[in-house]
Amino acid sequence: MGRAFVYVILGGGVAAGYAALEFSKRGVPPGELCIISEEPVPPYERPALSKGFLLPEAPARLPSFHTCVGANEERLTPKWYKEHGIELVLNTRVKSADVRRKTLITATGETISFKILIIATGARALKLEEFGVEGSNAENVCYLRDLNDATRLVEVMQSRMAGNAVVIGGGYIGMECAASLVINGLKVTMVFPEAHCMARLFTPKIAEFYESYYEAKGVRFVKGNVLTSFENDSEGKIKGVILKDGTRLPADLVVVGIGIRPNTELFGGQLTLEKGGIKVNARMQTPSNASIYAIGDVATFPVKLFGSNRRLEHVDSARRSARHAVSAILSPDKTGEFDYLPFFYSRVFALSWQFYGDNVGEVAHFGDFAGGRFGAYWVDKGRLVGSFYEGGNREEYVVIAEATRVRPEVADLDELGRLGLEFAFRF
Ligand code: FAD
Repeated sequence: MGRAFVYVILGGGVAAGYAALEFSKRGVPPGELCIISEEPVPPYERPALSKGFLLPEAPARLPSFHTCVGANEERLTPKWYKEHGIELVLNTRVKSADVRRKTLITATGETISFKILIIATGARALKLEEFGVEGSNAENVCYLRDLNDATRLVEVMQSRMAGNAVVIGGGYIGMECAASLVINGLKVTMVFPEAHCMARLFTPKIAEFYESYYEAKGVRFVKGNVLTSFENDSEGKIKGVILKDGTRLPADLVVVGIGIRPNTELFGGQLTLEKGGIKVNARMQTPSNASIYAIGDVATFPVKLFGSNRRLEHVDSARRSARHAVSAILSPDKTGEFDYLPFFYSRVFALSWQFYGDNVGEVAHFGDFAGGRFGAYWVDKGRLVGSFYEGGNREEYVVIAEATRVRPEVADLDELGRLGLEFAFRF
């Protein structure tokens, strides 16, 4: 049993959705493109799951956030795929791949062959078990990566209203979930090993602002500590968590956001892996096999601006790498190198920040921290390499992005801090 397509996208997440739209804009004939996804629904804007989806009032529900609404583009519903002759193979896990023979085999035993494969398998949430903690399969422990996870989180949350929630992990999933849990009336404690929240990006000064804001909303922070075990009730549900220093926290609900692992396993030994992802060139094409492309969270690609290969776990990178790969496939002569400025954002409570570039080197903070409109610049080897801003408007974000792309020289860090946004407006 088998089917054959010219183009197959393996994975049905953000990158797949944006790739599909790009294929259709470029006039791919009906019947040539297929998307295979383990999920039961067509591609959607994954960031909605920790934001609008968790709201107590008028929560976002599909079909409202199918791709590509996040980039103010067309919303690709099941009907859209049908009308455009794009085959959606949903609820289907691919269990093996042979890149030389150009075939994929699904869990139901079907062989799907391709001329060109785009790998868009994204990543999965790291489980506590991978760190030696058992019991995270309990009914009231939630992870958050896909629609099923988010649906389950909402159910558990709604059955524990006014209860105690413990959020494990201080990254953006932890921060966004903590905010949503508070908005839903739960009492929230965040636990993470680092000295402050969002340790991979925030400076201590930036983190202090968000932690104070969260504390004012009732969130408690337990920093420099980790979960070591769960305490169960007689039905196997979690009723508490035990931390490394012996602290016990009561828990009616636990949300775990401790990082992700790219889904590369199907290609181990067949394609080159780097930095945990599938290595591709600036056309998003694997160096060893010209018929295979990788996009989104699973791809490690050259970031020209930094002069190094990176694997990014951000929605904007998924969208843009997808479009670039399709352009490279369908218009090879007109497609240059992917020249990407890394961009990452988050929205929590009434706050909203954006970050562009790289957070290495020295930092100059600027703006009004008390008033919630502030930022930071990162300067490495005498040049601006990264910009962060909270509470900005569209124009301000465009301006810091442009300035970061230009990588201007910075002679004086104090002066940069004094100038703040004014510096970015010069470019
Ligand atoms: P994914 O969207 O993860 O899609 C991968 C797809 O592949 C899934 O459908 C999966 O089921 C499928 N798949 C994997 N293996 C197989 C297989 N063997 N067979 C079949 N199908 C398979 N980024 C930001 O910049 N800002 C944010 O605010 C933000 N918020 C987020 C909130 C949440 C809750 C999450 C989970 C992520 C968030 N992100 C955010 C990150 C962003 O969503 C990801 O970077 C983006 O989804 C990556 O797209 P992708 O297509 O590479 O992977």
